[in-house]
Amino acid sequence: MIEWNPWHGCHKISEGCENCYMFRQDEKFGRDSTVVRQTKDFHLPVMRNREKIFRLTSNYNPIYLCLTSDFFIEEADAWRDAVWDMIAYRRDLHFKIITKRIHRFNQCLPKDPLRKYDNVTIVCTCENQRTADERLPVLLDIKAEHKEIIHEPMLERINIEKYLASGCIEAVTCGGESGDNARICDYAWILDTREQCVRHNVAFHFKQTGAKFRKGHQFFRIDRKFQMQQARKADIDFVPVPEGEEKNPYDSVLRLLSKSPYLREITLPPDMKHYCRRMGMERIKQQAYEYVRKNIAPAHIPNDGYQTPNKGNPVFIAQHATATCSRKQLFKWHDIYCGRKLTEKEIIYFVGLIMEWIQRELEKET
Ligand code: SF4
Repeated sequence: MIEWNPWHGCHKISEGCENCYMFRQDEKFGRDSTVVRQTKDFHLPVMRNREKIFRLTSNYNPIYLCLTSDFFIEEADAWRDAVWDMIAYRRDLHFKIITKRIHRFNQCLPKDPLRKYDNVTIVCTCENQRTADERLPVLLDIKAEHKEIIHEPMLERINIEKYLASGCIEAVTCGGESGDNARICDYAWILDTREQCVRHNVAFHFKQTGAKFRKGHQFFRIDRKFQMQQARKADIDFVPVPEGEEKNPYDSVLRLLSKSPYLREITLPPDMKHYCRRMGMERIKQQAYEYVRKNIAPAHIPNDGYQTPNKGNPVFIAQHATATCSRKQLFKWHDIYCGRKLTEKEIIYFVGLIMEWIQRELEKET
């Protein structure tokens, strides 16, 4: 990730700013963060190296703009046009402007009304429901080609369904707060936002856990250097189904599962394929119902994690491949908490998923 900070310094504007990283860093060096000043990188996109080549190339895309300030802060009004010029000049670069001051967008546009800025994504930060309901209607209203939402630091569960339903949000990112005084980020809020994105087919990215992270009844203190790594490990990013593609209800979950190197490696061996053909798919489905009801559906399973053998039946193999072999896996991959009985609807869904995986394996060349 590459940053371009043409100016530095800011003023706290809402709850999310309380433990601002830039303020914390400046404090260490005795600098006043409230003084907004141009930086030596002001002209970064047009700066060249000794070989006369631009220092920033499209390999760096996207370029994150103003991470130590706010692009739309008042003190930078006199400098912003020069930055718009550089953005227009470097059309090979894509810039992401992350802002809490979306209300100033219209008064901060380039002077030339015909100027295109389609190489820019406007990313609106909202850390709680209040800021979401204040800023997102403005975000929907502005004329920008690309719009995204970021909940960072995410301070509570946030319902953004009505904004996602507009169809003009391209992606949502979630993350916790860093630092000694960080506020808790709850995994359930992250999963809830992910579900909203899945329902509206909007890309979702879990960026980092923050320093204090709650998952179910467990609480974790996570060192800064592991916060992104832990989020990546959760492996819950969602890639939207492309427009026009036929929507199979299992497409997105199978795509998500295929991102795991371990699950991706699992295949149905030839003897199991032969077994399926010999028994018929209806019989296999009955077995799937039997195993799911017996081994996965109960609220408490004493040997959870060991109840599904690795071989002996195509359903067992499919359960491992689709992460339906234990309640731990159901929690990790399908957001279903342990400790409650699966509903009939869920049993039907998981049997359908298992059967879909087997069907796809049968269709592969043997
Ligand atoms: S708007 Fe951003 S840079 Fe400014 S104080 Fe808030 S968190 Fe810090």
